[in-house]
Amino acid sequence: MKIILLGPPGSGKGTVSERLVQDYNLIHISAGEILREEVQKQTTLGKEIKKYIEKGNLVPDQFVAEIVKLGAKGKKNYILDGFPRTIAQAKEITDLNIDLVIYLDVPEQIVIKRLAGRRTCKKGDHTYHLTYLPPKKRGICDYDKTKLLQRKDDQPDVVKERFRVYHEKTQPVIDYYKKKRMLRIIDAAPTPEKAYKNVRKIIEDTFK
Ligand code: ADP
Repeated sequence: MKIILLGPPGSGKGTVSERLVQDYNLIHISAGEILREEVQKQTTLGKEIKKYIEKGNLVPDQFVAEIVKLGAKGKKNYILDGFPRTIAQAKEITDLNIDLVIYLDVPEQIVIKRLAGRRTCKKGDHTYHLTYLPPKKRGICDYDKTKLLQRKDDQPDVVKERFRVYHEKTQPVIDYYKKKRMLRIIDAAPTPEKAYKNVRKIIEDTFK
């Protein structure tokens, strides 16, 4: 099963992906995570990518498409999280034969609150929320025992820019998959956990 998971920043793609990995043994291919790893390695490419992410802009298509395709190569069961985010990226992967596109739909005001409280561990990219999903020990990752930090791109002015870019570049991708009748929309406003229940239903329905 090959699934694309789309949604605005902070819609819960990471949390939903984690559950899908546990329940269906899927490989999680997160464009954002791969890009952040490249930044951490401080390669020439990583330094270039960092400039885009920190401003809330999309990383140019050719950088992202290549590394994501490499991650998916030869695999049959995976979730593509946060990819494609532009029509050009969507056209790059028509040969992957994706089964299903799930869209996590959340109003902007709700995700802005979520992002403000989001904290992540730098090591494994585990995500928490100060109020909605706190770690067992304050400020420390449950899994890696490392310090939790706020992503630079979760700061309010960068979040604003991410939404602007989202509406301009990614909304057309949603419409693209809708036209192809591949899109299923989930109301992800309540919590990512509740959204996940509905994701499961759709998956059971599609792959029975
Ligand atoms: P979110 O979905 O909350 O924005 P991600 O971790 O998916 O978080 O993405 C973080 C950042 O990584 C994006 O703001 C963007 O700069 C970059 N990025 C992620 N996926 C893509 C993509 N498919 N194309 C271009 N840039 C991307």
